[in-house]
Amino acid sequence: MPVTQTSISYYGLNYVEHAEQDFTEMLEHGCTTVILAVTEFDFDFWRPNISRIVDKAHEMGLRVLIDPWGIGKYFGGEQVSLFLQNNIENRQVSALTGEKLIAACFNTPSFRDYFQRFCLTLAGETNADGFFWDEPHYALPKSFASITGGTGEDWACRCSVCQQKFHAYYGYEMPRLMTDDVKQFRWREALFILEDTSRKIKELKPEMEITCCVHATLNSYYVTEQRGYDNWDMVAASPYFDVFSTTIISWELPDHFFEHITRRTVEIAQKYGKASERWLMGYYKQPADFDQIDRVVDLYESLGVDRLSAWTYRGGHGTVLAAPDALKLWRRIGDNYQRVLRKKG
Ligand SMILES: [Zn+2]
Repeated sequence: MPVTQTSISYYGLNYVEHAEQDFTEMLEHGCTTVILAVTEFDFDFWRPNISRIVDKAHEMGLRVLIDPWGIGKYFGGEQVSLFLQNNIENRQVSALTGEKLIAACFNTPSFRDYFQRFCLTLAGETNADGFFWDEPHYALPKSFASITGGTGEDWACRCSVCQQKFHAYYGYEMPRLMTDDVKQFRWREALFILEDTSRKIKELKPEMEITCCVHATLNSYYVTEQRGYDNWDMVAASPYFDVFSTTIISWELPDHFFEHITRRTVEIAQKYGKASERWLMGYYKQPADFDQIDRVVDLYESLGVDRLSAWTYRGGHGTVLAAPDALKLWRRIGDNYQRVLRKKG
């Protein structure tokens, strides 16, 4: 099966006529779909124009997925969080120190309500084709990615809400150690907010499609990042997600890592009857040899990936996370998008 969708993320949503120019450029770069990174500020301030921008994209022939970008610092992304600005509670808490962290706890009714209102409002007010769940995660996960174990023992979340939920379910106090019960609890609770919101979006508009994009980690016997969505079977098995996607990996990683991640992504997606998606790093860093982009796209295709995505429009040109040759990188991704779409016919 050829690749059927080529997406690019896009932020800075303000004026419809400016978006229109950028959409023209995306179409010239072989994009079929735009992933609109809607910030909490966009939602709060620019909301009348969001639905108009979606309609303009449709009019020009682009599909549109909405990404609640960096929301509560629960999803990936550089945006600032109004939830964290406007609330002093409902934050994730360090298991070992008990300190509040700079991320919303997505297991609290407060953040779950906030997230759901954000998504359901946009589902109701816009004609978007669906939503994109962008690197959801618990804070403090990376320290567990050590083959020797124990480079860091801290984890989140052990806030009062998580502790109460844990106690209600297991009948004993939530440990400060990452036991198997804690791991299971974190997986189950992490999935709840996304499944509940996805289900309600589909009740409102059954045609809306959900992509769940989790971190592209090894998750081997020895190494796992414990971000809460690292049990790929559990994520992909969810009946509320249509597309199983795994995130960007650095161009500097070896070819066999790209292959390993992609093979597992496609296998898991197919096992649960979902479409698969793999990403290209189109900002910040670029390959030493741009031919690597062509080779990675060939690899993704050969392993049966259904959809390609790249972050972000114009290689992040003009931002602090621009690739050194941002526009050249954007061009090369566009060349590849056009190349794979020609096979689709
Ligand atoms: Zn919590």
